[in-house]
Amino acid sequence: MSAWENNVRRVVPYVPGEQPKEKNIIKLNTNENPYPPSPLVLEKKLSLEKLRLYPDDKASLLVDAIADYHGVNSNQVFVGVGSDDVLAMAFMTFFNSDKKILFPDITYSFYDVWAELLGIGYERQKLDDSFRIKAEDYYKENGGIVIANPNAPTGIAEPVLFIEDIVKKNQDVVVIVDEAYVDFGGESAASLIDKYDNILVVRTFSKSRSMAGLRIGYALGSDVLIKYMNDVKFSYNSYTMNMPSIILGAESIKDEAYFKQTIEKVINTREWFKDEIEKIGFCCPPSSANFLFITHNTVSAREIFERARENKIYVRYFDKPRIDNYLRVTIGTREDMEIFLDFLKKNV
Ligand code: PMP
Repeated sequence: MSAWENNVRRVVPYVPGEQPKEKNIIKLNTNENPYPPSPLVLEKKLSLEKLRLYPDDKASLLVDAIADYHGVNSNQVFVGVGSDDVLAMAFMTFFNSDKKILFPDITYSFYDVWAELLGIGYERQKLDDSFRIKAEDYYKENGGIVIANPNAPTGIAEPVLFIEDIVKKNQDVVVIVDEAYVDFGGESAASLIDKYDNILVVRTFSKSRSMAGLRIGYALGSDVLIKYMNDVKFSYNSYTMNMPSIILGAESIKDEAYFKQTIEKVINTREWFKDEIEKIGFCCPPSSANFLFITHNTVSAREIFERARENKIYVRYFDKPRIDNYLRVTIGTREDMEIFLDFLKKNV
């Protein structure tokens, strides 16, 4: 080992879902939207000559569009390179206490990675046996809270009142609500940002807006919270948002009809698929997301995962305590799901 390696910041990185190179696969493993972005995005002409310039460091076009959409002020909006960037920036900004931050034992597996990277102490709170968050676990003293709502990978959503209760009891710390999947049936806590200055609601264009490839995420919060985040951002990288993301993100926001239409298709397919798999021995919690968290009464999840892969169908398997007999299945097109259902009927 070289001497310099003694001084390396060692981390165990987050492992994102596979992006297989092979063709003709059914890809249900990373919660992407099966439909393309809005035609307004696809048809927008970009002046690529402008790429010689730095982008707007404040990404005002996009920030203003998001603010308008949510009926908030532009100084209540923070944008980043996907919600992963926004969340990482929020951890860096707000979780700076000697007390431990709290999040569920089963949730987005990036939270503990950021905490480790940034040296933030954390304590996982056990979900109950139906994978529900127990609000009272979040009443104790802590250095901050992060809750995905709907939760991942379970898909279970809690109502705004549930979130408000936690925010109300934790006004000494920042509560981050990760709403990556909220558009597929959850209830947003965005309405709380004018009432409480310590709630940060994080959203993404990756799922409901079919723009994972462009990397756009944002946060809504009180102007004070957003200012603190921008101070950290501008101390780290002024130009996080590139020109195409700023322009195409703003285009997407204009197309409410298309947005609603694709979401409805995903939800309809989800509910149809859920009914069908329940007929063949699967069960799953009610989902308010664009995925289902499924388990079978006789065949193991790992076995289904491996066999599906051999058949060029990719779903997500987490080899982790409590959830190692579950598969997270992204909702694809109706045709994708029919093929997967056929496969399941033959393999369970
Ligand atoms: N939060 C949750 C709960 C997620 O599942 C994901 C997707 N991996 C993200 C945030 C990040 O998504 P993105 O960076 O594409 O916005």
